[in-house]
Amino acid sequence: MKIETLAIQTTLTPDANAGAVVAPIYLSTTFEREADGSYKHEHVYSRASNPNRQALEKSLAAIEKGAIAFAFSSGMAATTALFQSLKSGDHIIMPDDLYYASSVLVEEVFTQWGLSLTKVDMTDLEKVKGAIQANTKLFWVETPSNPQLKITDIQEVAKLARTVGALVAVDNTWATPIMQDCFAAGADVVMHSTTKYYGGHSDVLSGALIFKEAGELSAKVATIQKLTGAVPSPFDCWLISRGIKTLPLRVKAQTENALELAEFLSNHPKIEVVHYPGLASHPQHEIAKKQMQGGFGGMLSVQVKGNAQEAMALTGRLKLFTTATSLGGVESLIEHRKSVESPDSPTPENLLRISVGIENIEDLIEDWKIALGK
Ligand SMILES: *Cc1c(COP(=O)(O)O)cnc(C)c1O
Repeated sequence: MKIETLAIQTTLTPDANAGAVVAPIYLSTTFEREADGSYKHEHVYSRASNPNRQALEKSLAAIEKGAIAFAFSSGMAATTALFQSLKSGDHIIMPDDLYYASSVLVEEVFTQWGLSLTKVDMTDLEKVKGAIQANTKLFWVETPSNPQLKITDIQEVAKLARTVGALVAVDNTWATPIMQDCFAAGADVVMHSTTKYYGGHSDVLSGALIFKEAGELSAKVATIQKLTGAVPSPFDCWLISRGIKTLPLRVKAQTENALELAEFLSNHPKIEVVHYPGLASHPQHEIAKKQMQGGFGGMLSVQVKGNAQEAMALTGRLKLFTTATSLGGVESLIEHRKSVESPDSPTPENLLRISVGIENIEDLIEDWKIALGK
């Protein structure tokens, strides 16, 4: 089955009680036990399992082409669970451009637990090789990266990781499984902030880890999920399951719009540079073409000619792009990224990150023309 069909089929969970085509939301935290001690429907207590979460996890595994998935209350909770599966003394390699909180999580929380971290430019495989230590256990890849849309060659990083028996985890939030099959490229684990494209409507916070194979590591994460309890509510799971139904359609529309907007902006005299892997001028365009099927995603960043204040002022002149953080919803958003990260972040001060929505592209481009003064 192709992904568009899977998106519908795996989220259809007809309810035996009432014949409801759309699954009900099971708010019950507890489930009835039989006199012989068994549980007729497997579920015991909602932190451990819940029908809505179980349905979502099955669907996530299928869509991502993995063996088993775990849903969490946020993308960061999912990332945390994976780091918690490591041991004190383990070393992680991460890209130098990535979702800011992912590396801060290691630097501020997990270093206290004995994990260590090296950040490298992952577009340079020699540098990745040079960062490997005897205790390197995890390569954390984010591609396209936030906010500079650098492309990491997952296949090549996976080859390096295999030489030292380390895991490869990919934050696939931006590309989504519609654009990027991480497991085919050699990843062991995929992480998602399902808050973004999976949810698709900016109204639910959640995350997921999907494993290529069920085994020792996935069992460890299952235990962490159940014991630490950072699980999404039944309603959150229901919303993500609903989002999955239109994920392929939305992401395709957003990708088409993003490419057109990137092309328009890359030819505009008031824009210094456009970061979008779909442009032939992007430094890793060839890798993106190899690695991303069906398009280059709905995210792009631009560096305007000017300073931070001028970049910020431009966001105020755009009427169809709401100035707000986050991404992946049906509405277009824009954000001055450095000021929400930190003065220490390597993000250029004139960079604006754009999450392109599903609006009409001619309207979106017209909005930019007016904001840029034609
Ligand atoms: C938003 C985001 C996260 C964090 O997810 P939350 O759901 O906000 O916890 C991680 N990685 C990327 C690439 C993101 O965009």
